[in-house]
Amino acid sequence: MEKEKVAIKGIRIRTLNLIMISVSCILYILLVWVTVYAWQKYENMVASTNEYIQCEEDAALVADGSNYLTEQVRLYTISMDMQYVKNYFVEVYDTKRRDTVLDRLETYHVDEKTYDFLLNALDRSNKLMEQEIYSIKLISVSQKQDMKEFPDVEKVSLKPEDKLLSEEEMIEKARELVFSYEYQESKEHILTNVSSFLDEIVDDTQQRQLDSSIELKNMLRKQQVLVSILFIENILVFILILRLIIKPLQIYVKNIKNETMLEITGSYEFKYLALTYNNIFELNAANETVLRHQAEHDPLTGIINRGAFDHLKQLFKAKLDPIALLIIDVDKFKLVNDGYGHETGDKVLQKVARLLEESFRSTDFPARIGGDEFAVIITDITEDLKSVIENKINLLNDMLLHPDDGLPAVSLSVGAAFSDCGFADELYSQADEALYDVKKHGRCGLKFYQKNE
Ligand code: GH3
Ligand code: MG
Repeated sequence: MEKEKVAIKGIRIRTLNLIMISVSCILYILLVWVTVYAWQKYENMVASTNEYIQCEEDAALVADGSNYLTEQVRLYTISMDMQYVKNYFVEVYDTKRRDTVLDRLETYHVDEKTYDFLLNALDRSNKLMEQEIYSIKLISVSQKQDMKEFPDVEKVSLKPEDKLLSEEEMIEKARELVFSYEYQESKEHILTNVSSFLDEIVDDTQQRQLDSSIELKNMLRKQQVLVSILFIENILVFILILRLIIKPLQIYVKNIKNETMLEITGSYEFKYLALTYNNIFELNAANETVLRHQAEHDPLTGIINRGAFDHLKQLFKAKLDPIALLIIDVDKFKLVNDGYGHETGDKVLQKVARLLEESFRSTDFPARIGGDEFAVIITDITEDLKSVIENKINLLNDMLLHPDDGLPAVSLSVGAAFSDCGFADELYSQADEALYDVKKHGRCGLKFYQKNE
């Protein structure tokens, strides 16, 4: 068996299973990795997009906040209504649109050049605020308004030359400070710096967005490739299972049903199974042949026994061909046993059997059907060939009566009957009747059954 194990060639299901599981695991791990990576890229893209949107909003806020302060300070210089000062400082301290955005802008990771835009804007913004508060101070002094509520205004002291100005001149100067071309230019300078800063950020964000989307695309392509490989692997597994397991199983079931050896096919394991089965099958077949031979043959003479003879009778009943049956009995055989011993008697029986086999054709069936009783089914014969049978029996008796082997002389009594259509029911009794007749009339001879007798 070991030798065959080495000789068998074929894919082992166990090895294949191990390879497929390993490949699947690697593919799944790669797929998970690619998916996680793609997710990160997607999140980066979303973050970049949000940042971009935030930048756009921030730009609007800076402009709105700045414009609002300008508006409030200008309205105050014109109307001199304290409410506008209040609005102004609410914006500066509470709403803080401009500051909030400027603070937030500081958190963006940008290069120094970009950041300079922001610093510049902040610097200008502070200067502008000083200018605006100075303008408020001028109006409040001219109008003798109490600014305790607004410490930023309170702590400002007027320049000596401005202290000398008249009420109208102060108002004039205050208005000039917030309506002048320089003021407007400063404002625009702040907004230009902020928007330059934002432009840089937007460019950077767009670039990051683009990079992330390219990487996301790459990851998704890798994901597609991995899923395709997994699909192909699944198909491959299906084909291999079909070829290595299902097909051989179907063939083996057919082989077992037909009681034939198994075809050596499929995986290594199936081939090994088939070889093992075939070895046992051959062994069983050989045993069966021996057993069948033992069951069908007489152990003493080696010719077929009574059981096999009865079986042949059934077969020839169905065949409907012309046949003849001889029933043969050794004459006075008891005397052989008594005179020469049972062992010699056995040898005589073996000799009779051998001579019967030699005398008839291979298509005829000599059988031992009792102690010293034999039968021969002669196939393909008709009554016109009686003489052939007669000659054979005469020759047999001649040989048995004149032995040259040291065994005692014996003779045979033979009863014969013919049938035109197989082993008829009455054939045996007819041949037996003829035999009885031979025994009755002196033994050692042959008689054919005659119907009219
Ligand atoms: P007949 O001419 O009337 O046939 O006389 P016979 O003595 O031959 O009588 P019968 O056929 O009845 O006797 C058969 C004998 O064969 C009886 C039995 O002892 C003997 N015998 C049966 N089987 C065997 C056997 O296997 N070996 C031997 N040696 N003798 C057997
Ligand atoms: Mg006898």
